Amino acid sequence: MGRDNLLNIHSVIPLSRVNGPGKRLVVFFQGCARRCPGCFNPATHPFKPVHLYSPQGLYKEFLLPDIEGITVSGGEPFSQTGGLLHLLRLCKESLGLTTVVYTGFLYEELKKGSLSGSTLKYIDVLIIASISRMILSCRQRLRLLSGKTGLLKKQDLAKQTLI
Ligand code: SF4
Repeated sequence: MGRDNLLNIHSVIPLSRVNGPGKRLVVFFQGCARRCPGCFNPATHPFKPVHLYSPQGLYKEFLLPDIEGITVSGGEPFSQTGGLLHLLRLCKESLGLTTVVYTGFLYEELKKGSLSGSTLKYIDVLIIASISRMILSCRQRLRLLSGKTGLLKKQDLAKQTLI
């Protein structure tokens, strides 16, 4: 994998219980052009190299033995769609982890792109996290893309708007 294909990562939390169900590895991508008003993570906006990893290198360095899933946030994960696809496919097919992805894009926008559309099949829960949309609705909007609805407890689902 060449340098151009490496993931540009802002930061990693090796073990989190607050970014999705169970024990999760949380990966914040670097780079976002969407500029939602009131964004909680502006340090992730610049498209400058911060920490560069191959998907395998990322798991090798950060994956703890009892992790149940990965949550990808940002920045905008779909600004690096090729790397995101590679990361999630590895996660699903080789490691058996569940996947949660935050994005500023709408599901319908992602479905239209050939690469982003292919990536959706490796995502269990897609969370539309645009701050501007959250202000309008006071809720995150969430789409379950796999049959793994057991991933989320009923009380979690009650707080979300399913789309
Ligand atoms: S998509 Fe996410 S990281 Fe990008 S500006 Fe909006 S809230 Fe911030």
